[in-house]
Amino acid sequence: MRALLTTAFTLLISSFALADGAFYGDPPDATHPWAIHDMNRAQPAVVTPGTFSSNEQPGKPPSDAVVLFGGQDSDLSKWEADKNPAEPTKWVVKDGLLQCVPGSGYVRTKEQFSDCQLHVEWSEPTDISGSSQGRGNSGIFLMGQVEVQVLDNYNNPTYPDGAAGSVYGVNPPMVNPLRKPGEWQSYDIVFRRPIFKDGQEVDPGYLTVIINGVLVQDHTPIEGGGGHKARSKPRAFPDQGPLKLQDHGNPVRFRNIWYRPLPKRAIDGGDTSHMSEAQTAAKRAEIAKSIRDDAADKQGNDKMLRLLESLVYEPNAEALSQGTAMAEKFVAEMKAVPADKLESKKGEILHVNGAFQYLTKFKLVPETFTAASELNAIVKAQEWDKKKK
Ligand code: MG
Repeated sequence: MRALLTTAFTLLISSFALADGAFYGDPPDATHPWAIHDMNRAQPAVVTPGTFSSNEQPGKPPSDAVVLFGGQDSDLSKWEADKNPAEPTKWVVKDGLLQCVPGSGYVRTKEQFSDCQLHVEWSEPTDISGSSQGRGNSGIFLMGQVEVQVLDNYNNPTYPDGAAGSVYGVNPPMVNPLRKPGEWQSYDIVFRRPIFKDGQEVDPGYLTVIINGVLVQDHTPIEGGGGHKARSKPRAFPDQGPLKLQDHGNPVRFRNIWYRPLPKRAIDGGDTSHMSEAQTAAKRAEIAKSIRDDAADKQGNDKMLRLLESLVYEPNAEALSQGTAMAEKFVAEMKAVPADKLESKKGEILHVNGAFQYLTKFKLVPETFTAASELNAIVKAQEWDKKKK
């Protein structure tokens, strides 16, 4: 049992040692600036998650959310009348809830933003009146440009591309997961704005919408943002815009409104995924330089390996020449160690050898980098390359 545990422990340690990020997974390529399992990549920012809402009580937003309405009277100062922004909105905060006052017009945030994860909760009037589009109608306008419909469709049919959860005039919700009027409903929306370059659409923009935990829009192309009766055509959106809530003549109530800005898409200058070859080359150069800068503060093998690691991202004559000289010096030192004393150097040699073999395998160093074959010869002579049974 102890032997088994020791083996497991050794395996654990060796996999950690290998997984230090360098010389491990497939190297970068023309459209991927990072290696597979690359520790040079930034760690995801730590976010403290919020809590879920109950019917009685709104939940807490995650720690990095921008709160647009959190239930305080003072939150109303974050909003303004859409028609006459100079005037305060006539919407009211009552019992910690933001309420539409029919006839007061749309309300909009002073905050301007674009791509986001948006959370909104709403509750329909229990005093049921009207039908179809006339019952509990409001709306969530992302950037003021495209409406995700708010409507009381609990036992109230309407045209499906105008139902709650629709991208109004564009696409119906997949299903109707609405609760009764008076109960609290939640929207979780992922919004990506359309992007045009030189008048050409390069990304249609998308909406993903979840109502009460149920997916109703799955990455739906925005097609210009929709509209009433008219079929909209793809169009560019501004860079930013306010969130607007619609006054459609019904006293719909809202609570717990927050958003999290999303990182830019590659097409928009971000470095999240699907980068162009030019973007990738620029990013690889940036990563290589940061590694060379880091190497400048290091000594010995740490410095050598960091210099050589930079070559994984971008060829660099100075880093190659310095790294090669250090590699040759290290190998010469190891060759000078008597065979029966080499065991104490085993960890260090295997670590460096792993790096050298990686560089050779992926042709990241020229054939003149003979330190790799010389060090590997020592490993083979010691039979350190043989798997233990
Ligand atoms: Mg509406």
